[in-house]
Amino acid sequence: MVLVYAESPKGKFKKAAFEAVTYGHKTAQVMGTQCVALTVGAVEDAGQLGKYGAAQVLNVSNDSLSNFDSQTYTAIMAGIAQQVGAKVVVLSHSSTGKSLLGRLAARLDAGSVSSVKTVPTVEGGFKVKRNVFSGKAIAEYEVTSDVKVLSLMGNALPPEEVGGPVDVQTIDAEGPAGRVKVLEQKVVDGTVPLPEAELVVSAGRGMKGPENWGIIEELATELGATTACSRPVADTGWRPHHEHVGQTGVAIRPNLYIAAGISGAIQHLAGVNNSKVIVVINKDPEAPFFKAADYGVCADLFDVVPKLTEAFKKYKAANS
Ligand SMILES: Cc1cc2nc3c(=O)[nH]c(=O)nc-3n(C[C@H](O)[C@H](O)[C@H](O)COP(=O)(O)OP(=O)(O)OC[C@H]3O[C@@H](n4cnc5c(N)ncnc54)[C@H](O)[C@@H]3O)c2cc1C
Repeated sequence: MVLVYAESPKGKFKKAAFEAVTYGHKTAQVMGTQCVALTVGAVEDAGQLGKYGAAQVLNVSNDSLSNFDSQTYTAIMAGIAQQVGAKVVVLSHSSTGKSLLGRLAARLDAGSVSSVKTVPTVEGGFKVKRNVFSGKAIAEYEVTSDVKVLSLMGNALPPEEVGGPVDVQTIDAEGPAGRVKVLEQKVVDGTVPLPEAELVVSAGRGMKGPENWGIIEELATELGATTACSRPVADTGWRPHHEHVGQTGVAIRPNLYIAAGISGAIQHLAGVNNSKVIVVINKDPEAPFFKAADYGVCADLFDVVPKLTEAFKKYKAANS
């Protein structure tokens, strides 16, 4: 059986949960078994996970689970995985999934692979693929343990509807009290978080200063995109740290990544080169980013970005 943890921040599923269930369903099909989804805490319409291939949904809910604690959640999820005889546990490769992966694998004496991007193949061994060396190569891993724990890279496969809603079974499970206390949480509301964003408008040091970011925000608003930036921009405080993408920042996989005034250093590319379409705006024809771009505009961003915004406005007006 394949057990999928479907995350539901604030009681609602995001795309990553549907991706994980789709992945769990496909993995179960390959293994000739069933996919069961696990939800934790009060969740709105947990049965909808059936649409993405869960044969059943298990929901654990009690007051101690209202705030995420990796130790408590691990103990509960490992207990359920053992009870239901899960051979594969699937997590999203989110901050929650990352903090559960190692702990769960240790508890279940399981082999684990993080950030997988392919449905396993099982002929001649259980094998999955993931990106390595900042996305420059793909490695195939064979997991030889009886139980396996995998985390799924965001946007690796689109959620697929394959059925209808299913029953939700409530499970009563208590975990040990967590030993890490969260003192404060700062949640960024408003736009789609970068790891889930399908459209991203990003800018770098070519912007000259934080006072010029209005043109980037206008373009992002017009497109319904999330804003991002290069590391030095966040380091110097021009933009908040949660916008920093790259090797040491957030890794993203949008359908469209527009980068203005970013040189395209290898450390930046490491976090963005899985974007489906990359558009680079840079006034230096030798900027390394052009080599990774699908479309390049060699011009001054202060000319081009407002023109792009205007063009999108006109396009939307003409097509609405
Ligand atoms: C260990 C390590 C980890 C790192 N991790 C990251 C990371 O995660 N993310 C990251 O981004 N960086 C990271 N870096 C830094 C990285 O090496 C680069 O220094 C950084 O990405 C450069 O940022 P930038 O492109 O905004 O600035 P610059 O390199 O200064 O480039 C600015 C670009 O803007 C262009 N430009 C200037 N004016 C205009 C204009 N008017 N119109 C159009 N174009 C213009 C210039 O031609 C230039 O190409 C890391 C570095 C190290 C050593």
